[in-house]
Amino acid sequence: MNYPETQLLIDGEWRGGVEGKWIDVLDPATDEVIGRVAHATRADLDAALKAAKLGFATWSGISAYDRAKMMRKAADNLRARADDIAWMMTREQGKPLAEAKGEVMAGADVIDWFAEEARRTYGLIIPARAPGVTQMAMKLPVGPVAAFTPWNFPINQVVRKLSAALATGCSIIVKAPEETPASPAALIKAFQDAGIPAGVINLVYGVPSEISEYLIPHPVIRKVTFTGSTPVGKMLAGLAGQHMKRATMELGGHAPAIVFDDADIATATKQLVAFKTRNAGQVCISPTRFLVQEKVYDKFVADFTSAYGAMVVGNGLEKETQMGPLANERRIPTIEAMVNDARERGAEITTGGERIGNVGNFYKPTVIAGAPLDSKIMNEEPFGPVAVINRFKDFDEVVEEANRLPYGLASYAYTGSSQTAQKLGMQVEAGMTSINHIGLALPEVPFGGIKDSGYGSEGGSEAVEPYLVQKFVTTLA
Ligand code: NAD
Repeated sequence: MNYPETQLLIDGEWRGGVEGKWIDVLDPATDEVIGRVAHATRADLDAALKAAKLGFATWSGISAYDRAKMMRKAADNLRARADDIAWMMTREQGKPLAEAKGEVMAGADVIDWFAEEARRTYGLIIPARAPGVTQMAMKLPVGPVAAFTPWNFPINQVVRKLSAALATGCSIIVKAPEETPASPAALIKAFQDAGIPAGVINLVYGVPSEISEYLIPHPVIRKVTFTGSTPVGKMLAGLAGQHMKRATMELGGHAPAIVFDDADIATATKQLVAFKTRNAGQVCISPTRFLVQEKVYDKFVADFTSAYGAMVVGNGLEKETQMGPLANERRIPTIEAMVNDARERGAEITTGGERIGNVGNFYKPTVIAGAPLDSKIMNEEPFGPVAVINRFKDFDEVVEEANRLPYGLASYAYTGSSQTAQKLGMQVEAGMTSINHIGLALPEVPFGGIKDSGYGSEGGSEAVEPYLVQKFVTTLA
């Protein structure tokens, strides 16, 4: 199988950009140029906006029942093509093939769930004061959506936004990641082949800032949704606010993983090592600040270090690989700077701490024990295969540390006490807390952050709401 050339999708037509520009796509495991992706410029964006406007008129006129049927067909297409799409994703993003296939299959579940959920967007009939008056509060699709998605989960980040938009009757322009373009394009092809009309879904790539600065203020666009870093999210949220556009922001995190003395330490270690390994730590909900109570600290550091350090790092296409490369070359110096800074400030690197070879973006699974609070790694999102483990004495101290940063996305805890679990659920400032297991990111449960990690949810019933507006109609018969 060959890695495909990725084109734009505008008004139902796959094509290159009007100016004929292309961007190279690299394999992060080999540094090879494996393909190219079309680059949209102003004329392409204007065409996409026109298509999205017409697409909205068409799609919002189709019943939720029929929209759901097409979406379920798209999910079936995706499942049937999962092996090929996973291979493309591993080539462009680096994650192990099994993880890539898992992402594609989970994407199909997201589509099914939103297709069903949006059939239940009920309005209200409100009792009237006068005879003959009917008062209705209706829910209508917000309009054309602009979605900006990153490279860490090329399908998952698109599918949540796309499914919520389509299920509610919105059209969409997706600005998918230039680094990992083929798998999101294959996702969108699965929808096109399921019969979604031309113009309803448009796909563009190019210079992210040029595209967002043009689309967000544009009068055709009625809703903005972005996943990525907090600084970029704040900028785009500001732009959306200036133009009174609704926005969902799914931004960075620095998730505390708290392990109490009374926890099942073997389970905590096993689950946290596995979850930390996923996607080489390039996950917004990856556990990053491990906070371990005094009595079990040494054992946890030793067990975590030996299990995490033993992970097989390699090309995601190879069967034995447990962790692939970082998706972008630029992540390596950022992570090196954080690790070196912690080392210089007296932290102990118990495993890893360096790049592997000089071909591909491979970095060793790394554990840093005892990093001071003012070190970079305790304040900036690592977004890579680095776990920092620090000790704590008691509940109040650990909650204070968990809540110290401006982030508030995911958090994890292991404890044998139901009382501690209950207090953590209330007191840890995060959009999501998973206790004694890893249980986040299913389509049917809320997914989103608080504080600098953003706003809005991309899961659960409330993920449908941001794509709807309320309209009140009162009629005297
Ligand atoms: P970055 O901040 O440059 O970009 C993050 C994402 O935003 C990318 O997908 C990029 O294409 C997009 N982007 C950047 N500027 C944009 C703009 N003006 N308009 C629209 N989109 C724009 O960082 P990066 O080097 O790509 O990734 C590193 C950081 O990004 C990580 O440290 C992490 O915090 C964050 N990130 C978060 C997620 C997530 O799932 N929340 C995913 C990927 C990256």
